[in-house]
Amino acid sequence: MEKKNIDWANLGFGYMKTDKRYVSDFKDGKWDEGRLTEDDQIVMSECAGVLQYAQTVFEGLKAYTTEDGHIVVFRPDLNAERLEQSAARLEMPVFPKERFLDAIEKVVAANEAYVPPYGSGATLYLRPFMFGINPVIGVKPADEYQFRVFGTPVGPYFKGGAKPLTIKVSDFDRAAPCGTGNIKAGLNYAMSLHAIVTAHKEGYDENMYLDPKTRTKVEETGGANFLFVTKDNKVVTPKSDSILPSITRRSLVYVAKEYLGLEAEEREITLEEVKDMAECGLCGTAAVISPVGKIVDHGKEICLPSGMEKMGPTTQKLYDTLTGIQMGRIKAPEGWIRVIK
Ligand SMILES: *Cc1c(COP(=O)(O)O)cnc(C)c1O
Repeated sequence: MEKKNIDWANLGFGYMKTDKRYVSDFKDGKWDEGRLTEDDQIVMSECAGVLQYAQTVFEGLKAYTTEDGHIVVFRPDLNAERLEQSAARLEMPVFPKERFLDAIEKVVAANEAYVPPYGSGATLYLRPFMFGINPVIGVKPADEYQFRVFGTPVGPYFKGGAKPLTIKVSDFDRAAPCGTGNIKAGLNYAMSLHAIVTAHKEGYDENMYLDPKTRTKVEETGGANFLFVTKDNKVVTPKSDSILPSITRRSLVYVAKEYLGLEAEEREITLEEVKDMAECGLCGTAAVISPVGKIVDHGKEICLPSGMEKMGPTTQKLYDTLTGIQMGRIKAPEGWIRVIK
């Protein structure tokens, strides 16, 4: 397989049209058999449910080349399950897990020339998504839906090493109590845009959202879960019903316990206790872990002891172990790596 002539190491995180994408339509109460297509355009009614009432959910995962030359994806079964939960919450039909896995496989195989080589740091980012496509004007769920998966090659998240981020405690809320914070819906991102543009204007990299009810507990950022390391080297992650259950975070907690022999716990974490933490990172598919160096709460600076130069030592170990598992350098737990080729 001849790879595309792409400067893998200098790719950013942007969209590039690839050769094939997967499409399946839901109509008359059932999904059709699905197909690969070269057509990247979607034609729909001006009144489509997705356009009027934001009925859309998505996923994000990566395909990449391992050390021994296989093309693999990381825990796609968890993306399939999470998409089911997201769809159910927005009254959308479930796209069956086995079919989701098959669609991922088809898109990766059809775009093999875009899967970056091992060692480049780049990956083929996969975006499964589903949306209401028929006209909806009275507020109700759509009757017809489309499920799609496309891939786009993306560069290494950190060019020249991970620089710790400075984040701001936001005055905006990301999710309401009993709202949709725990599903991967576009609507959660639309309302975070003003908050992130504001934070960037003020010189911050990200927002830390607090629990919307009491504004005392740490939730997450716009698109990544928090992970902290305490001074006695315990890994702790916020427990909340209004955060998105990150697959990266769940995997890191497992790695902390089973590979590094650390204590790891998911529990409520107050903003008050953040000043006593030794390390902090943001977990998500894109970067695995982005280190946090400083958190600013209305002018009051919390400087993590790990500093502004590099990841904290435990964060680094977690990062090295999980990326080692993903790249095939370290033996993966059963079922974590799905080999496509
Ligand atoms: C996708 C997402 C994450 C990260 O989840 P992963 O499964 O690790 O990629 C975290 N928070 C939000 C709000 C997200 O949408």
